[in-house]
Amino acid sequence: MPCYDCHAHLADPRVLPSLTATLSEATDHGVCGILANAARLSEWPAIIEMSQHQPVLGALGLHPFFLDEWSADVPDRLEDALQEHERIRAVGEIGLDFYEGRDDLPKQVEVFAAQLDVAVRLNKPVVFHNRKSWNEFFTALRNTGPVQGACHHFSGSLETARQALDTGLFLSFCGPLTYANARRLKEAARYTPLDRILTETDTPDLPPEQHRGEQSRPHHVHWVVTEIARVKGITPDDVSAAVEANFTGLFGKP
Ligand SMILES: [Zn+2]
Repeated sequence: MPCYDCHAHLADPRVLPSLTATLSEATDHGVCGILANAARLSEWPAIIEMSQHQPVLGALGLHPFFLDEWSADVPDRLEDALQEHERIRAVGEIGLDFYEGRDDLPKQVEVFAAQLDVAVRLNKPVVFHNRKSWNEFFTALRNTGPVQGACHHFSGSLETARQALDTGLFLSFCGPLTYANARRLKEAARYTPLDRILTETDTPDLPPEQHRGEQSRPHHVHWVVTEIARVKGITPDDVSAAVEANFTGLFGKP
């Protein structure tokens, strides 16, 4: 069963030292595409390098947790990297996170909008991180204009799912979907149409139930595929085929 992981932190220091083994394990388990997402600027060179090799593609961006790394030249650097490297296919992981409070809201919005603007100008998809920030997120999208992308680890309400889907976004699900008590996530996965659903692992975080207590790895993505199939009452092969079409449609073929 071909599987696709649209959100893995392969340049994370917890993953990078064992990258070769991680990728061969993924390939052995039928993982045909992994979008390696950046969190910090220091990860960009490793992501550019690893994206030269199957099945990895890259996304570059600055996560809202690392705003202190922001400088005025980041948008130009992002634009150059996206134009120079064919296998850097997306901007990510970027977004808004007010879980710890809203003190840095203006800075978060500024950094998010500046990166979003690069994606829109170059017509590249975006991988979004959002926590307790949906109103500000949709406002930012309205201010920027149409953008393609995926909401990573979607965990919003059905109303938020509807709004994101109406905006044209894909919703991506990961390990926590497999937890017995994840009622809201299962509802959202059931609600999301097959032609708008994606799968991910958020490696090395958010492991599926079957690997609780371990770090997650891209080959765990098949558990997410299986759980989406279960909640939708369809076969894993149907989910796999849909995710393949969605992943390659949004990010291109690995
Ligand atoms: Zn992430």
